[in-house]
Amino acid sequence: MTDYRRLRVALLGAGAVGSQVADLLRRHADELADRAGASLELAGIAVRDVDAPRDVELPRELLTTDAETLIVGSDIVIELMGGIEPARSYLLQAINSGADVVTANKALLATHGQEIFDAADQVGASVYYEAAAAGAIPIIRPLRDSLAGDRVHRIMGIVNGTTNYILDRMDQEGAELADVLADAQRLGYAEADPTADVEGYDAAQKAAILASLAFHTTVPLDAVHREGIVGIDKAMMDAARHAGYVIKLLAVCERLTGQTDASAAGEAISVRVYPALIRRGHPLASVHGANNAVFVQAEAAGNLMFYGAGAGGVQTASAVLGDVVSAARRHIAGGVGVGESTRANLPIVEIGRVVTRYQITLEVDDRPGVLATVAGTLSDGRVSIASVEQTVIGDDEEGTGSARLVIGTHKALEQDLSETVQRLADSGVVERVVSVLRVEGD
Ligand code: NAP
Repeated sequence: MTDYRRLRVALLGAGAVGSQVADLLRRHADELADRAGASLELAGIAVRDVDAPRDVELPRELLTTDAETLIVGSDIVIELMGGIEPARSYLLQAINSGADVVTANKALLATHGQEIFDAADQVGASVYYEAAAAGAIPIIRPLRDSLAGDRVHRIMGIVNGTTNYILDRMDQEGAELADVLADAQRLGYAEADPTADVEGYDAAQKAAILASLAFHTTVPLDAVHREGIVGIDKAMMDAARHAGYVIKLLAVCERLTGQTDASAAGEAISVRVYPALIRRGHPLASVHGANNAVFVQAEAAGNLMFYGAGAGGVQTASAVLGDVVSAARRHIAGGVGVGESTRANLPIVEIGRVVTRYQITLEVDDRPGVLATVAGTLSDGRVSIASVEQTVIGDDEEGTGSARLVIGTHKALEQDLSETVQRLADSGVVERVVSVLRVEGD
């Protein structure tokens, strides 16, 4: 057996991911040492309660509640505790004491990423976070390294497994959101408090991380426009299916050109999370269940699709261990770690400045002239119609009927669109705005 240099590894957290990382580190120690060129010695595992039941059996003597002491003298610190504090303080302590760090903590990176990257830059340490954006799917390295010589135009990601599971079952079974959500909670696909998933917070954190890398620009979380899936119902799903679409919660990171107050090159970026219509033939439409996928469009590379498990303890542990091997190799090789590239510093535009296609569903009075009024209001608002489908939906007591109008638009400015929809709602001919959904990926 090769006599490798020993690297001291500290693990913070032994939950769903951490316990699997500890298990794999111990079971595959020899193989990992050959790949890393160093022996990875698990020095200890910090937890809240050393007596809590674990997913895998771990030696009692490795568990400690004293993370600070464990970090001291470590070469690599793996943070898998989650949350902002004390994870942030522990990572800063690790960096400042000379360790390279590995984390899967999207909430922390999306809010305090810059502080952590700056601290690492100061001392020449490296921060690895392959598991923070899409679990087991390799997407951080492709964006940070493989595509570093290309120009990314657009990323569309299904980056939250819970909401994809819910929307997929609504689509396949014609079920209502509340029923599928309750089922997802029973099966462990959704948390007891599903807010972070269904309101799009989790996807927004991942969008901020992906956009920062793709566009070499720091993207603060509050610059990400966020809408969740709570307003999606069976009727919208049925209408989408009828029109050849499926509804997915998408994280869209886009490079825009021709922005008036933008950088010298006239470029800016938009980062947004919302439920959107995707045509059935698009690769993202076939992402089923709790799977994730990230679709990247780059100038030279063209279209790339990354697909797989966006969560799960052992799956996520794969990405974490890849980072640990990279950190070990760098630690052995020495030299200064590669910092984040945020020099492009592109302006981030608000949602009102985004241009996309829409599908507007309205319930209107079924009488002569209504269609002309609707068409005129859209045209006055600089929203051009691509398609209209009208269905009669029944007579009321006075014998005047209602109709459902499904209007597909050409590309329009979000601000124009939302003002126009408001004018339609106030026009006197529209009984109800049933839904307004963006169409992405065409
Ligand atoms: P988890 O199951 O809740 O485990 C958290 C672990 O951290 C537990 O072992 C807990 O100790 C320990 N811990 C929490 N606060 C601590 C403190 N103040 N001091 C010491 N230990 C503390 O979390 P997880 O699902 O493994 O997720 C870990 C990280 O990976 C999170 O950032 C998450 O966003 C990210 N991630 C998770 C997944 C996934 O599928 N689960 C996927 C991608 C990324 P006790 O066990 O004693 O309570």
